[in-house]
Amino acid sequence: MSRSVLVTGGNRGIGQAIAAAFVANGDQVAITYRSGEPPEGVLAVRCDVTDAASVEAAFTEIEAAHGPVEVLVANAGITADTLVLRMSEDDWSRVIDTNLTGSFRVAKRATKGMLRMRRGRLIFISSVVGLLGSAGQVNYAASKAGLVGMARSLARELGSRSITANVVAPGFVETEMTAVLPEETQARYKEQIPLGRYASTEEVAAVVQWLASDGAAYVTGAVIPVDGGLGMGH
Ligand code: NDP
Repeated sequence: MSRSVLVTGGNRGIGQAIAAAFVANGDQVAITYRSGEPPEGVLAVRCDVTDAASVEAAFTEIEAAHGPVEVLVANAGITADTLVLRMSEDDWSRVIDTNLTGSFRVAKRATKGMLRMRRGRLIFISSVVGLLGSAGQVNYAASKAGLVGMARSLARELGSRSITANVVAPGFVETEMTAVLPEETQARYKEQIPLGRYASTEEVAAVVQWLASDGAAYVTGAVIPVDGGLGMGH
């Protein structure tokens, strides 16, 4: 059955691969983007997750075209890395507002329709550093750890209506961000990863697909690592 799926930040990187996998599955897929040319084959809706009115307008447009969102992937995220003493209030707030509060805004809005349908899948894209910590990423790691508490609370609040809430925690993924790292740095990172390589965006998308599938109907409040073994133990 074709579902109404929304992937925030689905115009590039991991989000684009997640959206493409849902399209390949035959779902009706909407993505959000802020600027530039969105990919084809999806309903592309302009939305800034830091702006509640923009989120509301995006959902109204998506619901008119595809019906209520049944699968939400909260993927939009940013970094503003620097060591703690140099981290400004603005570096902190921007990252929390986008990664954590932005995910809250879209999850809250999606829940409205899911409660009426008595089904739904909330999937939050966190990171291995949410639980592992990362020097220079105090803001980012806090935002990604926050998603775990939020998802688990949603799992408890919404479970009786057959709505699941889960977290996917990727490690290093082959994206524009990691491609620009010097080879020496990449080699050092890879030494820490049992599988000895980065993930492809498709490998993250495959786990998201599974969480949205019938096979994962009894999985909620879980944190699923897609990190090649980097974070083992949490
Ligand atoms: P990119 O930087 O390639 O893409 C980020 C996406 O988020 C873009 O689509 C961007 O939209 C969107 N976005 C950022 N801010 C906002 C906002 N305020 N409102 C709406 N959309 C916004 O990131 P990746 O694909 O690398 O990462 C995707 C997710 O995966 C993020 O949450 C990231 O933290 C997480 N992650 C990434 C890892 C990696 O190795 N790359 C590892 C672990 C987790 P726009 O194009 O308009 O800027």
